[in-house]
Amino acid sequence: MNLSVFTRNIPPTNKVYQIEDLENWDHPGPSLAVLGHPIAHSLSPVIHNAALQEMGGEFKNWRYYAFDIPHEQLPEALVALHINNFVGINLTIPHKVEALDLVATIDPVAERMGAVNTLVKLEHGYHGKNTDGYGIETALQQDLGATIAGSDIIILGAGGASRATVVQCLESRCRKVWLGNRSVDRLEALVESIGGPNERLETFALGDPPSGRIPDDSILINATSLGLKPEDPAPADLQRLPQNLRVYDMIYNPPETALLAQARQLNYPAANGLSMLVHQAAKSLHYWTQATVPVQAMFAAIQAKS
Ligand code: NDP
Repeated sequence: MNLSVFTRNIPPTNKVYQIEDLENWDHPGPSLAVLGHPIAHSLSPVIHNAALQEMGGEFKNWRYYAFDIPHEQLPEALVALHINNFVGINLTIPHKVEALDLVATIDPVAERMGAVNTLVKLEHGYHGKNTDGYGIETALQQDLGATIAGSDIIILGAGGASRATVVQCLESRCRKVWLGNRSVDRLEALVESIGGPNERLETFALGDPPSGRIPDDSILINATSLGLKPEDPAPADLQRLPQNLRVYDMIYNPPETALLAQARQLNYPAANGLSMLVHQAAKSLHYWTQATVPVQAMFAAIQAKS
C-alpha cells in the first residue's frame, strides 16, 4: 500500500495554528487539538503525538495540533473544529471555564470541578470532561505512593487546579481536605461553589495553617502559581506544618521549586507536576480513542524534549 497518500497532507505538529487555518484544513485522518492563549509553550502536541505514533494501527493517521485561540474566538473555533473532524480537544488557559457554556453535554464531576479540559466529539457538538482530577490522583500514587482514599490532604491555592483537586479528593473518599489560600474571598468562593462547608473540608489562611490539628504523614499539594518564577519563595514553610508530609507541586517548570527543595532537605517524598500533566493527557487520549494509551511513550517524549 502506498502510505504517501495518507501522509502527504499531514502538516508538522510543532507548529502553532490559528483559527484561519481551519478554512482549508486538509488533514486526511481524525484530528486532535489543544486550544489556548498563549499556547506556543504547550507540551501537549509532543506528548500526544508520541503516544499516537506508538499506538500505530488504526491511529497512525491521527494527529494532535496546537491552536492559538484567544478568548473571543472560542465559540467560532469549536464550530470550525467540529466541521473539520476534530474528534477530541484539550482546553487550557483561558478556556477551561468558559467552555462549560459551549458544550452540548457535560460530565457531572467536571461540572462540579467548574471546568472542562477535554472535549469529546458527538454528532452535534462536544461532550465536556475534566481529566485533571484523574491526573493528580494517578500522579500522587505513582510518584509518592500516596493514596487519596483515607488520607488527609493539604491543598494550597483556590484557583481552577485547586478546585479540580478538591473535588477529586472528596470524590475519592479522602479523610479530610485542609484548604489554604492567600485571598480569603477566593477561598470562600471555592467552598461555596462545591456546596458549602462540610466536615471533610476545612479552610485556613495561607500564612496560618492549623498545624496542630493536621495529622503527620498527610499529603501536601501546591496548587498555587507561586513557584512558576525561579526566584519565587515557597507558598508554605514545611517546618511550620505537620511532619513527614508527602509533597506534590503541580508546577513542573522549573522542575524544582523552593517548596520541593525544602521537602528534599527534610527527606520528605516529593515530586513535581510533570506526572500530573502526563496522566491527565493519557486519560484524555483514552477518552478519544477508547484504546490503551502508552503512558511511557508520553514520559519518554517529554524527557527527550527537556
Ligand atoms: P489560578 O490562576 O486559577 O490560581 C492561582 C492560585 O495561586 C490562586 O490560589 C492564587 O491565590 C495563588 N497565588 C498566586 N500568586 C500567589 C502568591 N504570590 N502567593 C500566594 N498565592 C498565590 O491557576 P490554576 O489553578 O490554573 O493553576 C495553579 C498552578 O497549577 C499553576 O502553577 C499551574 O501551572 C499548575 N497546574 C499544573 C497542572 C499540571 O498538569 N501539572 C495542571 C493545572 C495547573 P489568590 O487567590 O490569593 O490570588
